[in-house]
Amino acid sequence: MNAQTLIIVLLVVAVVFGLGVVVVNRRRVTPVPPETPPTDNRAPEIRSAPPRLEPPIVEVGDAEAAVVERVIEPVVEPVVEHIVEPVDVPVVEPAVEERAPSFRERMGKAAAAMAGVLGGVRSRQSIGNDTWDDLEEALLRADVGIGVTTALLDGLRERVKAKAISTPDELIAALAADMSSRLHGADRSLHFDDSLAASGQVNVWLFVGVNGVGKTTTIGKVAAQQVAAGRSVILAAGDTFRAAAAEQLGTWADRSGAELVRGAEGGDPSSVIYDGVQRANAKGVSLVLGDTAGRLQNKSNLMEELRKVRRVASKEPGVVTEVLLVIDATTGQNGLAQAREFTDAAGVTGVVLTKLDGSAKGGIVFAIETELGLPVKLVGLGESIADLVEFDPNEFVGALLDVS
Ligand code: GDP
Repeated sequence: MNAQTLIIVLLVVAVVFGLGVVVVNRRRVTPVPPETPPTDNRAPEIRSAPPRLEPPIVEVGDAEAAVVERVIEPVVEPVVEHIVEPVDVPVVEPAVEERAPSFRERMGKAAAAMAGVLGGVRSRQSIGNDTWDDLEEALLRADVGIGVTTALLDGLRERVKAKAISTPDELIAALAADMSSRLHGADRSLHFDDSLAASGQVNVWLFVGVNGVGKTTTIGKVAAQQVAAGRSVILAAGDTFRAAAAEQLGTWADRSGAELVRGAEGGDPSSVIYDGVQRANAKGVSLVLGDTAGRLQNKSNLMEELRKVRRVASKEPGVVTEVLLVIDATTGQNGLAQAREFTDAAGVTGVVLTKLDGSAKGGIVFAIETELGLPVKLVGLGESIADLVEFDPNEFVGALLDVS
């Protein structure tokens, strides 16, 4: 090969090599796809779009992650809300209801007083002289009174003689039935005349009784019940002799949601009741509960004053629809003498027997109803606002004799 041929060969090789490089380089550049900027896929305006309508971004890893993020986000928020809700559930309290003690449980002392004696009667095989002695003693101790006790036991003796009753258990059951039936038939409702309000008049309930029996406390409890029943109530502080009485009544007015009308200390009780009625009339209040003084010294003056209170309370637009005599059950037969005087002076329509929760003398109910002809309408079983219940003869006798 001469030099000329060698040069030609080298030129050919150089040309071929050069073309190869160009081809290879072009091949390296062309397969690379135009870069999809990942930042575009995370742009805020895309986040707000509904995830299912997104263009399917399959090839780019970052874009896939972004799709997942967008799908999860809206799902997570409501789930968190649902998780929070049950945390609030314990706030719903009605599930934890406390059972109020029953009439029988709260009459513990009165019931306990008779229970021992009646246990003795029950434990005997038959009905004998001891049985009658025990029953008489138990009834008198409970303050049922000699008249009612004798009448009850005479009736039972007849039935034992006639063999209608033969065991001690039957005897006690018959005694309970007789005691209950003696208390039936009385009208124990509190008289409120709905038609009065329509004619621009006001119902007035007066509370009378000696000091310390529980008048003011009872007025507070009655006010709470009447307000709860939807009535508007004014408390008139007619006990102007006792320094703290109006303050005490004011506290009950606050607790019960009633309004208070009071006068000057030592002032005329009748005019306080009168003011209460006038205010009730002006404000469209339907019920006035009037407190009265209960001093025992100066008795004749007190009774005169009560007559006047009743007269004044009955002046237009007031109508006295209840005069409730409050008697402390722990005073037993003493309460009876008081009741007679108050009934004469104030025209009592019913009795509230207080402190029955702490008395072994609940039997006074029989003396009040039989001897005075007054219905026991309400019973106080404690000092708090809810401790006033309607008198239920069956429950009362059942609790007293410990029978169901
Ligand atoms: P007032 O002088 O007649 O007005 O009698 P109060 O209303 O001031 O009551 C005299 C006391 O008897 C107070 O300590 C009352 O809390 C209490 N009391 C009233 N009613 C009851 C009751 O039903 N049970 C008990 N245990 N205490 C009562």
